[in-house]
Amino acid sequence: MKSKREAGYPIVGVTANIDDNKVDTQTIYSSYVDAIYHTRSIPLVLPMPDITLQDSYSAFAERIISGLDGLLLTGGDDVDASLYGEENFTFNGSFTEERDLFEMELCRAADAQKKPILGICRGAQLLNVAMGGTLFQDITKQNPKKTLLMHAQKSPSYSGVHDALIEPGSHIERLLVPSGGKILVNSFHHQAVKDVAPGFIASAAASDGIIEAIEKEGGGSRGFAIGVQWHPERMRRRHKHAERIFAAFAEACGS
Ligand code: MN
Repeated sequence: MKSKREAGYPIVGVTANIDDNKVDTQTIYSSYVDAIYHTRSIPLVLPMPDITLQDSYSAFAERIISGLDGLLLTGGDDVDASLYGEENFTFNGSFTEERDLFEMELCRAADAQKKPILGICRGAQLLNVAMGGTLFQDITKQNPKKTLLMHAQKSPSYSGVHDALIEPGSHIERLLVPSGGKILVNSFHHQAVKDVAPGFIASAAASDGIIEAIEKEGGGSRGFAIGVQWHPERMRRRHKHAERIFAAFAEACGS
């Protein structure tokens, strides 16, 4: 039997979203599915069953991850602040217990089983929380003395609105901008990584100091685990760095 890499079809789990506005419904944006498909991987959407005991999510997540080659954590609602040891302020948005707990366990299982993880927007935040980091519940409210950049853009999602300054020597630098420097990214968030999880580093930030990407320390050699605050799935037709991150993720999933 051929290895997955030779066959060229790694299976990537893509987390689903709970839509508060539609009863009994889970959703997925097509752009995530398309981005995975275009790397010659198989996108497999992971809906969450109604399990209310975290132990059960843990066992369930381990079984799911053992059948996958990689995990894509998608965007969506906010994260319950109690998961990183804070109380929820009025400016935290809506969150759902089952999605938070399910994705936390998927992250831990993928990390334990050394499967590549790519987190996008909420996915980057969730990855940070699952690995022991914290978030700003609202970047504007919790950084009152700073003039922040436009992190909640109104222009089309394929357009970049601010730069992400890439940390020299990081895994992301090797994957996206071998010459170093910065990339132009889109921005649809009011939360962001505050304290980076142990074993992770901030690998990109906006010029106002807001963290725009995190990655597992040691990059490729110690496993692919990257979270980006922007939405590369919306930019990949027009921006090479956005296409590149999915290609690199697929390569890691196939190896
Ligand atoms: Mn931003």
